[in-house]
Amino acid sequence: MYDCIIIGGGISGITAAVYLKHANKKVLLIEKSALGGILNKISKIENYPGYKSVTGPDLAYNLYEQVKYNEIEVLESTVISIENQGNTNLVKLKDKELTCKYLILATGKEARKLNLENEDRLVGRGISYCALCDGPFFRNKEVAVIGAGDSALLEALYLSNICSHITIINKYSKFKCKETLLNQVLKKENITILYDSMTKSLNEENGLLKSITYMKDEKEEELQVSGAFVYIGSTPNIFDINLELDGNYIKVNEDMETSIERIYAIGDVIKKDIYQLTNAASEGMIAATNIIKRLNKE
Ligand SMILES: Cc1cc2nc3c(=O)[nH]c(=O)nc-3n(C[C@H](O)[C@H](O)[C@H](O)COP(=O)(O)OP(=O)(O)OC[C@H]3O[C@@H](n4cnc5c(N)ncnc54)[C@H](O)[C@@H]3O)c2cc1C
Repeated sequence: MYDCIIIGGGISGITAAVYLKHANKKVLLIEKSALGGILNKISKIENYPGYKSVTGPDLAYNLYEQVKYNEIEVLESTVISIENQGNTNLVKLKDKELTCKYLILATGKEARKLNLENEDRLVGRGISYCALCDGPFFRNKEVAVIGAGDSALLEALYLSNICSHITIINKYSKFKCKETLLNQVLKKENITILYDSMTKSLNEENGLLKSITYMKDEKEEELQVSGAFVYIGSTPNIFDINLELDGNYIKVNEDMETSIERIYAIGDVIKKDIYQLTNAASEGMIAATNIIKRLNKE
């Protein structure tokens, strides 16, 4: 029986694990992919305390080192479902079940898809949701970035140093972004922006992306590109359990408690106004210190 199981090894889950471990609690961190989570897919971060500028994978590596240094138990596995049984929680994996007194959901969110016909088939064949991972495959080629927010602009800037030309396809008439970021993009000679342009279809040739059809001013236009990077938001990774949600996101109180006793949620999976590293880490600390207090009283 663990004192606490944390599902998700991104910055929020790792922060919670460090606090629990420092308080001598029996804690397990379950991660299905790489420690650091979404950080492994971010090209550059310039607003995290202590760093002028750092790549996501470098920050993820530092977190991994911190997990190792603190001897935090990590299980590389996918949690399939969870069940609350009053004073304990059951965590179900493919091959076993684990129990804990407290559970923290730190499962983050997944990139949203365009939901176009060829999209799934073209992933890895022109369609990508991670410029950092796949950008180098499009060196000196023309690509598109589809999106209207900070992530789309940030990753377009990253790609502008690799690809010959980037066209940002924005379905709105404006960006929902930081002004400084947009100014940097506007200065780049190899970035073109298409406003009010709705992506309609992904066209393939010999199994690879060949072009994108988009609607602008009620006319269909075709853009020839070898790659398209999709940044149109994300959907939280939640489990099929009766948690109170706000939209698709988990609702929590100021202690990061969900509507189910002994289940907490932190980071990108919860409903909040701003999704950043600093508040994700802070929520990890809040959930962990609250759980530590409760464990010390039991
Ligand atoms: C392109 C981009 C750029 C960004 N730039 C910045 C920036 O400059 N500054 C900033 O402050 N923030 C930035 N952010 C936001 C910031 O990265 C996130 O808010 C933060 O990393 C979220 O951390 P997290 O721990 O909640 O989730 P994540 O890092 O997403 O971690 C969740 C983890 O849970 C794991 N998981 C999910 N389901 C399961 C399961 N069933 N079983 C086991 N494991 C599971 C996943 O594999 C993942 O590793 C950016 C985000 C993006 C997408």
